[in-house]
Amino acid sequence: MNLEGGCACGAIRYELTGKPLIVHACHCRDCQRLSGSAFVVNLWMERKSVRASGAAPQSFRLKGGSGQAHDVFFCADCGTYLWSRYHGAPGDALFVRGGTLDTPEAVRPDVHIFTRSKVPWLELPKEARAFREFYKTSEVWPQESLARIGRARS
Ligand SMILES: [Zn+2]
Ligand SMILES: [Zn+2]
Repeated sequence: MNLEGGCACGAIRYELTGKPLIVHACHCRDCQRLSGSAFVVNLWMERKSVRASGAAPQSFRLKGGSGQAHDVFFCADCGTYLWSRYHGAPGDALFVRGGTLDTPEAVRPDVHIFTRSKVPWLELPKEARAFREFYKTSEVWPQESLARIGRARS
């Protein structure tokens, strides 16, 4: 079954018609600020696999950690941040915020990133893969995801 989600007021709904390439728990300062929380669960999705319905999301642009643009999409009525587009990320991708899923418990982070700014009271599971900043996709992604993004690029 496809995962579904939406903003807090219900004006925007979405359906994920494919599996995430990978799921990040991002502890960077932008994610902390944008969510008002300790970290964000981001589903790295191919854009074509995110089917939005209802109101059109609005966006604003920040400068991402890589120095490249980071567009944040949100609901104009309730302000919920639904997904981001990082121009530095390979492929045509959207980063969907796991907390906006109807069933956030359905996904689990594959990898924790930017743990250099992780809040100290949060202890990651011992077996968790974690990086102080980012990682090399070729070393961390499942083969299947690498193949998918390869196809998307060519
Ligand atoms: Zn809304
Ligand atoms: Zn982040």
